[in-house]
Amino acid sequence: MAGKLLLFDFRCTECALLDCVLVQSEVTTRPCETCGGDSIRLIPTPRIDPRLGIDPAFSTMSDKWARKHEQARHLDEAREREHGPDNWGHEGGNVGR
Ligand SMILES: [Zn+2]
Repeated sequence: MAGKLLLFDFRCTECALLDCVLVQSEVTTRPCETCGGDSIRLIPTPRIDPRLGIDPAFSTMSDKWARKHEQARHLDEAREREHGPDNWGHEGGNVGR
């Protein structure tokens, strides 16, 4: 099962850079692209409620994370809109004549 690439978030322990990269599922650390320090894999968090009272720095971080993922989703949607949904083969029953 080696070689399967998954999308994970990594955070640098030196410069706190947050990066979202495709790595093999067993990879938990990687060199930071900015400073060369240790970047460690973050545990995928489903959703963090800022009202839970975690310290502000952390909520900023998760906000940044969420925005990044939101962006990726918008990209996907935009791509879908451009190229149409994946069902051009069968035009359903709404061909009007
Ligand atoms: Zn770094």
